[in-house]
Amino acid sequence: MPLYQYQPDAEGCPFCRNGFEVLQPVAETPLTECPECGAACHRVLAPFAAIKSTRDMLSPKNLANKGFTQYKRAGGGHYEKTCGEGPSVIKGD
Ligand SMILES: [Zn+2]
Repeated sequence: MPLYQYQPDAEGCPFCRNGFEVLQPVAETPLTECPECGAACHRVLAPFAAIKSTRDMLSPKNLANKGFTQYKRAGGGHYEKTCGEGPSVIKGD
């Protein structure tokens, strides 16, 4: 059963003011009210973890660790290596 995070839409009570977490089955309808005070709230999908993992996965350091080589377009048919094995520059001509 996943742990869901909620944030109140207004100030709320001491329980919900800074956000709270609830264990819920995946199929269960998300809460719309704080279980303590009834203030309107909404579910947040672990924003920090989601953003961090996407950025980290595509970072040059992680790509190199996974054995990828990444190049960026440098103009004029040239590509410069940003990470990984291989020549530091690729020329298109
Ligand atoms: Zn509350």
